Amino acid sequence: MNKFWNPDVSTLDPYVPGEQPKEGEFIKLNSNESPFPPAPAVVEAIKAAAEGALQLYPAAESDELRAVVADYYGIKADQVFVGNGSDEALGHAFNALFKHEGKRLVFPDLSYSFYPVYARLYGIETQLIPVADDFRIDLEDYLALDSREVSTIIFPNPNAPTSLALSLAEIERLLQAQPDILIAVDEAYVDFGADTAVKLINQYPNLIVFQTVSKSRSLAGMRVGFAFGQAELLQALVRVKNSFNSYPIDRLAQVAAIAAFQAEDYFQEKRQLIIQWREQLTRDLEGLGFEVLPSATNFVFVTHPEHEAETLAAALREREILVRHFKIPRCAPYLRITIGLAEECNALVEALKDYFERLES
Ligand SMILES: *Cc1c(COP(=O)(O)O)cnc(C)c1O
Repeated sequence: MNKFWNPDVSTLDPYVPGEQPKEGEFIKLNSNESPFPPAPAVVEAIKAAAEGALQLYPAAESDELRAVVADYYGIKADQVFVGNGSDEALGHAFNALFKHEGKRLVFPDLSYSFYPVYARLYGIETQLIPVADDFRIDLEDYLALDSREVSTIIFPNPNAPTSLALSLAEIERLLQAQPDILIAVDEAYVDFGADTAVKLINQYPNLIVFQTVSKSRSLAGMRVGFAFGQAELLQALVRVKNSFNSYPIDRLAQVAAIAAFQAEDYFQEKRQLIIQWREQLTRDLEGLGFEVLPSATNFVFVTHPEHEAETLAAALREREILVRHFKIPRCAPYLRITIGLAEECNALVEALKDYFERLES
């Protein structure tokens, strides 16, 4: 800190993203990115746009992209908000919707570690509710919350880093039980095994859903994400966005995201492969003595009764494989491993076998 800093900045506790190695031939299973490149039509669209009109500002409200995504989900364009990654859409929602003087924002103790970061940035009081011993979100804990004290409940579905999903029926039960609390469902991983709540937005004015093209649509490098909700709710996000940056989604990102939503066959094929490889990796890791939570995502959350997770992560790193270890109390015995290509998953299993064998000899 120096004397020119806003003093509040020294109190922030910024998010630390997964490592992006600059050198070496690492197998990256640490950031939940897709192992596949985007669909060929996406790259073509970006090339065409790059040769088009980059001297001009992009569409401020991403109109065409919103129309395409709205059509995909059978909703209206004014029920879609576009952010520079879902992280930005989330950030605007913390500011525009979740912040109410004297009320708390509630989320599970194990969930996306960006939530407490935004809460600190915007000065929002939080309440963390522990997930159950089996790492599931216990809805009963949320049904009892008092809307006079709580503005919003947010959770990822499926949850990260636990990989576990709630059913749509459970989410609907929460929406009905808490009509005066905003329910924010972060669906970054929904395409890998959960049911989207987007289809419920017309029925529930207290619902906001977030999605991203970063994971299931192979576009983490483009930074496009969405919020879905009733038009009046989303207007708060538009107001905050246009008080901060009117053009957060550049021309290349808009055309790329449009093409990604139009490449339905590619999307379905890659999504199914990742699900298939996840099931295979689960069996292989169980064969090595790991406990693997039943994942509905593109990663697995695993622990080994005889080996420390941190030591395993270091041993894998030596073998040029990156996985994620969170040094927070309940996560410490676990590794979060992204599903890579089949050969990358196999390399992981072989590296673990090699490590275990060397320990024994
Ligand atoms: C990856 C992730 C995001 C952020 O996605 P971007 O669109 O890349 O910003 C949001 N929420 C959760 C739970 C995630 O895992």
